[in-house]
Amino acid sequence: MSLLVVGSVALDGIETPFGKVDKTIGGSGTYISFSSSYFAPKVNLVAIVGYDFPKEALAMLNQHGIDTSGVQIKEDRKSFFWKGKYYHDMNSRDTLVTELNVLADFDPIIPEKYQDCEYLMLGNLAPKTQQTVINRLRKRPKLIMMDTMNFWISTALEDLLQTLQMVDILSINDEEARQLSAEYSLLKAAKKILTMGPKYLIIKKGEHGALLFHKDQIFFTPALPLEDVFDPTGAGDTFAGGFIGYLAQTEDISFENMKRAVVYASAMASFCVGKFGTEGLIGLSQEAILNRVREFVDLVQFEIVMA
Ligand code: AMP
Repeated sequence: MSLLVVGSVALDGIETPFGKVDKTIGGSGTYISFSSSYFAPKVNLVAIVGYDFPKEALAMLNQHGIDTSGVQIKEDRKSFFWKGKYYHDMNSRDTLVTELNVLADFDPIIPEKYQDCEYLMLGNLAPKTQQTVINRLRKRPKLIMMDTMNFWISTALEDLLQTLQMVDILSINDEEARQLSAEYSLLKAAKKILTMGPKYLIIKKGEHGALLFHKDQIFFTPALPLEDVFDPTGAGDTFAGGFIGYLAQTEDISFENMKRAVVYASAMASFCVGKFGTEGLIGLSQEAILNRVREFVDLVQFEIVMA
């Protein structure tokens, strides 16, 4: 089943205690596409880049089976640029630079051949742009998932609240859930957010795992304990890509299957953080992914005899 991904395709500057890069390829659309390409039968990407975006990076996406004919290239403008800095606690970061550049007036054009998508993943982008994508699809996809971030909660809350009414699943991190709901308790935050539109909510807690909420049901999975986390950039997007990619592959959007999707999503995120930028997501084998998933199963499975 085909998956349409819309998100930022960017140049990122990243600084962590383990290294620094001035410009590497990144963006929500990039991480989501790479991650979902291991599952979804077809991944189509709608995005925008400028003259400075390396053509080899688009070729790399194509090598992963991702259709990039929906990526607009503006020859007279610069690509979206984001720069972040992490400290030893990799669960939080400072955003040092956000230069919207081409993203400032991104008009998402959906190629005709992408119109029949059954799954839609709206990566971190201006909420108005996310709405435009939904409105431009002639048929509502079977499942619409979206991500957002503190930047949009602070600068475009009204638009964001409207977009939330149009989607099935929202995926955000704990800090964003607290900001959006004005509740500190994540359970209270989830309850509130589930009244804002989405029927399902995923709250990512970095190295502390992820929670999936639906009505009064909750599912939790830890993050895989890793000796070395080099760069958490894109982990949330990678998680989202693995999650919706798995649903598209299995064509099952039940809550039970979403639990499995959360485990696959967490496995993909563990590949992302183990290397710099998108490097950890390039050229993975199905065997490597399955082994990671097995590690998760071993980590959390236990038997208990209830008296
Ligand atoms: P994550 O670590 O999952 O939150 O995603 C990091 C990615 O999000 C980076 O590759 C950035 O290029 C991208 N990003 C950061 N800020 C924004 C924004 N305001 N809009 C769209 N994408 C962004």
